[in-house]
Amino acid sequence: MQKLPRQPELSLVDAASRPAEKILVIDDDEVTLDLLRLHLTTAGYDVLCANNGLKGLSLLADSSARIVVSDWLMPKMDGLAVCRQIRSMYEGRMVYVIMLTVQNHKDQLMEAFDVGVDDFLCKPFHEGELLARVRAGVRVVHLYDQLSHRQAALTQSNTELCQLNERLKQAATTDDLTRLMNRRQAMLRLSELWAETRRTGLPLSAAIIDVDHFKDINDSHGHLRGDEVLQRIATTLLGALRSSDCLYRLGGEEFLVLFPKQNLDAANACAERCRQAVAAYVFADPGQTTPVTISVGLAEATPAMASYDQLLRGADTALYQAKNQGRNCIRIHAA
Ligand code: GH3
Ligand code: MG
Ligand code: MG
Repeated sequence: MQKLPRQPELSLVDAASRPAEKILVIDDDEVTLDLLRLHLTTAGYDVLCANNGLKGLSLLADSSARIVVSDWLMPKMDGLAVCRQIRSMYEGRMVYVIMLTVQNHKDQLMEAFDVGVDDFLCKPFHEGELLARVRAGVRVVHLYDQLSHRQAALTQSNTELCQLNERLKQAATTDDLTRLMNRRQAMLRLSELWAETRRTGLPLSAAIIDVDHFKDINDSHGHLRGDEVLQRIATTLLGALRSSDCLYRLGGEEFLVLFPKQNLDAANACAERCRQAVAAYVFADPGQTTPVTISVGLAEATPAMASYDQLLRGADTALYQAKNQGRNCIRIHAA
């Protein structure tokens, strides 16, 4: 089982290797704007300045800034409108908004929080407090980054686990060589169909198919060519069957066909189509040709049968007869 990579702990420590955090400041008052730029630049931040809301939004769109320090009261577009725009435009992008305000009435602050403001700084502001609040914002956006990366890694692991599961399921149910369902699936389906035929009284037939003298094909052409013949036979049988018939590789050069709701006559007609289709296939290797044929044993479920094992045994007995009576033929189990 693949091990999930261990996730590192979320860390509040500012990595020294990170580039300087971009801070967007928006204020219509040039003096305040200059002061904010000075304090933040001196503290090592990469500062972008806008003297109105629209300019601020356009700078935000063109940059990777994720911390915004905005004045509240501005002509045309105030700080709350700026914040509203940010929240509606950047649903998937973390933008931390600090509002500069002389307003500290509780109702107005609550309204601002509802709009999506993350923090406040009262004017006139103290340099130390400005930097402390910006540092808190930086910590939040970095934690957000770590969570996003962790989420992406988990999603990736989840996708890989689903794909692995799918491959395991495939390996457990399918035969590698022919891509047909394997014996286990055949028995599962047969037990379902057996229950159905018992419940409904509708017929159920089964055919066991065995390739004739397959050992000779292997001996004269090699095992690899033998594999190709088996693949080709599987495709040929699928082509000759109807979509309601179920074909399985039981193992070696032996196949099983289940014919739901089909009596012996209908199943026999289908088996005959299979026999002819395979017989028409001449396996050609340079310099020699080898006809490929199959023998088929057919049986139908009867009320006297105690279990589906008896149905399979009936088909197997009929196959044995087909082999003894010249091969390349179908024999039917007499109930
Ligand atoms: P019969 O007509 O009586 O069925 O003769 P046969 O040669 O087909 O039967 P036998 O059971 O003697 O030989 C079956 C051969 O099938 C032997 C085995 O090596 C070969 N075989 C089984 N599975 C595979 C496979 O996956 N690939 C190949 N190439 N050969 C396989
Ligand atoms: Mg055989
Ligand atoms: Mg065999």
